[in-house]
Amino acid sequence: MRVLLVEDDAMIGTSVRAGLRQDGFAIDWVTDGQAAENALAVRGGQEAYDLVLLDLGLPKKGGLDVLRGLRARGLDVPVLIMTARDAVADRVAGLDAGADDYLVKPFDLDELAARVRALHRRRSGRAEALLRHEHDSDVITLDPARREVRRNDVPVALSAREFAVLEALLERAGAVLSRTQLEEKLYGWDEEPGSNTIEVYIHGLRKKLGSDLIRNVRGVGYTIGMR
Ligand code: CA
Repeated sequence: MRVLLVEDDAMIGTSVRAGLRQDGFAIDWVTDGQAAENALAVRGGQEAYDLVLLDLGLPKKGGLDVLRGLRARGLDVPVLIMTARDAVADRVAGLDAGADDYLVKPFDLDELAARVRALHRRRSGRAEALLRHEHDSDVITLDPARREVRRNDVPVALSAREFAVLEALLERAGAVLSRTQLEEKLYGWDEEPGSNTIEVYIHGLRKKLGSDLIRNVRGVGYTIGMR
């Protein structure tokens, strides 16, 4: 999944980006409110980001203004506020302005990741944390919190990016995802995907989970669960 991180504190930004990347998220990081608006406008539409992590005290344009602008334009992307101000009034203002959740700094990276996953799950309309897919006589399950994939209840070791590709496909089972859509779930701005990396991950997944689990729809992309 792709996350926009809006944070002007270099230390916090660096550690959040590193921590979430380790969990297989694609992170775009901007350091002021104006850049955040630009990122959301340029990438446009509802599909651009799965989540926004938003600091409130920001240069150029405050986080609350960014949030209000976002909601005024009808974007309903989940927003988690990260704020050092622990005043109740700030949190209330944030939630009133359309934030979905908040964390008070300093926070634990594991807690941040857990909340990110919870918001994403709610957004995808899943109450269950587990993604499950039946394929021929195989049952594939993916647990986003434990970063665990099982085939017929036997754990399968995947790389972080193989995991992210599988998660993206399972979340939209039955839909065809283009290579670009998959790349957007995997890479932030400062990471240049190689020319055939998606194919490499798909190849790895097929090897580990069955050769016909992921179908290639020629000229369109990849899909799970469509016959
Ligand atoms: Ca700040």
